[in-house]
Amino acid sequence: MHQMTLAEIARGLADKKFSSEELTKVLLARITQLDPQLNSFISLTEELALEQAKAADARRANGESGALLGAPIAHKDLFCTKGIRTSCGSKMLDNFKAPYDATVVAKLAAAGAVTLGKTNMDEFAMGSANESSYYGAVKNPWNLEHVPGGSSGGSAAAVAARLLPAATATDTGGSIRQPAAFTNLTGLKPTYGRVSRWGMIAYASSLDQGGPLARTAEDCAILLQGMAGFDQNDSTSIDEPVPDYTAGLNGSLQGLRIGVPKEYFGAGLDPRIAELIQNSIKELQKLGAVIKEISLPNMQHAIPAYYVIAPAEASSNLSRFDGVRFGHRCEQPKNLEDLYKRSRGEGFGPEVQRRIMVGAYALSAGYYDAYYLKAQKIRRLVKNDFMTAFNEVDIILGPTTPNPAWKLGAKNSDPVAAYLEDVYTITANLAGLPGLSMPAGFVDGLPVGVQLLAPYFQEGRLLNVAHQYQLNTDWHTRTPTGF
Ligand code: GLN
Repeated sequence: MHQMTLAEIARGLADKKFSSEELTKVLLARITQLDPQLNSFISLTEELALEQAKAADARRANGESGALLGAPIAHKDLFCTKGIRTSCGSKMLDNFKAPYDATVVAKLAAAGAVTLGKTNMDEFAMGSANESSYYGAVKNPWNLEHVPGGSSGGSAAAVAARLLPAATATDTGGSIRQPAAFTNLTGLKPTYGRVSRWGMIAYASSLDQGGPLARTAEDCAILLQGMAGFDQNDSTSIDEPVPDYTAGLNGSLQGLRIGVPKEYFGAGLDPRIAELIQNSIKELQKLGAVIKEISLPNMQHAIPAYYVIAPAEASSNLSRFDGVRFGHRCEQPKNLEDLYKRSRGEGFGPEVQRRIMVGAYALSAGYYDAYYLKAQKIRRLVKNDFMTAFNEVDIILGPTTPNPAWKLGAKNSDPVAAYLEDVYTITANLAGLPGLSMPAGFVDGLPVGVQLLAPYFQEGRLLNVAHQYQLNTDWHTRTPTGF
């Protein structure tokens, strides 16, 4: 039962082959049995899940239908869930029960999705290995000695291990696409503004975007359908109609123009990954796509710009966690300054503290122009590169990551080494573009992802290309042994 995709579950529920309650019980038992190996959940919400599953079954019995009605999912633990711990992977929020549901959570609940729990993540979504979580590292089900990627590593590991069919995640610089690549999943970061950020605890507000993590493009289409749409509570949400993503999956790829940036294949890319990317290009050519070499000349500046902008926004966003308005409060403060210092010093882990310091420095008088303003200018150049490229091509294709999942602990002593691994994903966030990662093969038994980028609001095109590719390849069907 646990092997089913969201699409298969929807058919099974519609055909009354099983009930949502039965399925939910099976998956909860599976999580209890297998998750100790992975540590992919921070909280399990058994009671809520069973209540929602019964309600979904009752709605179906009353003639209602819908692809998400009764579908079990989980939420990355930075989406606020009313009355349920929303920790953001941090000691700072270890005892925070959100007073309301995030828009994404409310929308999916209204569509009938069943919340099994809240998934582990890098603290405040800062990281690419899920090792900065206060709740401990998450393991990659493909090899328990390796990281699952981050920051949405809990969602990715849980879905990859078939503990549940799909989960929500967020992507500020790659945190949906990179863990998808590392665990053999399909993950979509939507256009900035496509999915409401209301109730999503902010890391870098101008870059953060929620999206689906699942095994197939078809399932990403189903989950995105439930997440996307205008929200008046989010001032950066965009009032664009949401297309029927599932209906768009079957478009032909005949004549599709795929741009392959020459900068993607420089030093630093594992040659075995380069070869798998070439194979995926050949596969898409067979389906009628036309390949064109393009250039993204400012790509080399994207990492330094991102690692100024994201920490700058984080230093501002995280100032609310002061032990008074929000978050952990130290014992017996001597005075106000001691209260702030110790509450923040105790509540935030080392990576978060590092980012706050970098960000506060980049924003400080005298350095603002040299760092923050400069980074914003680079951001515009990165966007311009994409605008030029999309005059000539329909999508851009390349690797999601330069290397497969590294060993737990391998990059802990060198944060910059981890930052460099984000080279292919962060440009989409700087430009606000949608991007998708899908399975493209294996290196040393570890999954490899191919990334597709599209113009604004062309999530449907990404899902269409990925679905057609998945109809003709079987990488995405591979299951990690032991799960
Ligand atoms: N690895 C990047 C960072 O640490 C991206 C994280 C994310 O997308 N949330 O900032």
